Amino acid sequence: MERRRVGILGATGMVGQRFIQLLSNHPWFEIAWLAASDRSAGKTYAEACRWKLETPLPARIAAMTLQPNIPEGSAAELPKIIFAALDADIARELEPKVAAAGCAVISNSSAFRMVADVPLVVPEVNADHLSMIEIQSWRRESGGYIVTNPNCSAIGLVLALKPLEERFGIESLFVSTMQAVSGAGYPGVASLDILGNVVPFIKNEEEKLQEEVGKLLGRLDDRRIELLDAKVSAHCNRVAVEDGHTECVSIKFRNKAQREEILEAWSDFLPLQRLHLPTAPDQPVEYDQSVDRPQPRLDRMRGNGMAATVGRLRECNLLDWKFVVLSHNTIRGAAGAALLNAEVLARTGKLDKLGIPTRTVSAKAVAVTA
Ligand code: NAP
Repeated sequence: MERRRVGILGATGMVGQRFIQLLSNHPWFEIAWLAASDRSAGKTYAEACRWKLETPLPARIAAMTLQPNIPEGSAAELPKIIFAALDADIARELEPKVAAAGCAVISNSSAFRMVADVPLVVPEVNADHLSMIEIQSWRRESGGYIVTNPNCSAIGLVLALKPLEERFGIESLFVSTMQAVSGAGYPGVASLDILGNVVPFIKNEEEKLQEEVGKLLGRLDDRRIELLDAKVSAHCNRVAVEDGHTECVSIKFRNKAQREEILEAWSDFLPLQRLHLPTAPDQPVEYDQSVDRPQPRLDRMRGNGMAATVGRLRECNLLDWKFVVLSHNTIRGAAGAALLNAEVLARTGKLDKLGIPTRTVSAKAVAVTA
């Protein structure tokens, strides 16, 4: 099968580098275009990027020239599938331009996550929300669209929550995170601030985590998302860990849940099995019985960095149950999440009509309702 040409916006950053690593030998996609800031345009990738990953920078990518990031004028050469790893302010300006050029923008940033007609998707959790692209104005005008994946902490959390919500219903949730420094991009948090330390503040993180859980676990009803009716309270902390976000969760269910039923809900959770997607983990939620797991250094690479590891399920004195969940923030929490979204879009034919306006589709009013 001929591989589809893809581009990466923000290709030199922490998430951009993960995109390159994950896409380098991908069976369906081939990197054909790279862009970052104006500072990098015109340089080779090797000149512009400080490669920080444990695998070598592929020679073909090292020699590629970074392109100007605005598609005007070069729209014809622009691949129709663009992975975007930009800060929110820049994404807010650039991503609509790329979608208006007829591209599928598969975004990591928070800029459009909570916009009513933009899907916020973790494929195991809410792949049905992807149908909302059909009512986006870019889709009608140019065939392009924007799809987003959530905040890195929200992804691991909702993987663990989805099978529990389906069986028992979630009434309220308390989560406290311990987030790795790679989550702040490069160069990120100053070493003098984080070594031997915990920083109990990550700007806008608690708000993102609280609201994104509601949309991700919300129900699609005639192209509207009914947010999950549950109270969510988050504390977010930066810790001196390189990769891997750990989250301590306490949860109150609407219906009574036994320990064995919760464990069964996680082990039976195999929603993508029939699609045979290259990046999907065999077991998206792995439970570890050990008393002291999950741990970031030992467990973040489970499922090639795409599985969430859960452990320490026990009764909670305040709510019903409590547990710990861990996921890799730049793989499952960012580039791998976007790549899995792209694989679902490819499997379901949504990467086939890019660049072709769909004005005939009726534009229904959409709203995210509480
Ligand atoms: P980063 O390491 O700071 O990288 C930022 C990238 O954006 C670089 O490629 C940079 O290029 C480029 N850029 C900067 N200014 C630009 C401009 N004006 N126009 C075009 N490109 C520009 O950030 P990151 O950690 O990769 O994060 C990228 C996005 O993913 C953010 O929205 C972040 O919130 C989100 N995210 C990150 C994680 C994580 O774990 N790190 C997880 C989930 C989501 P230059 O090299 O040329 O400056």
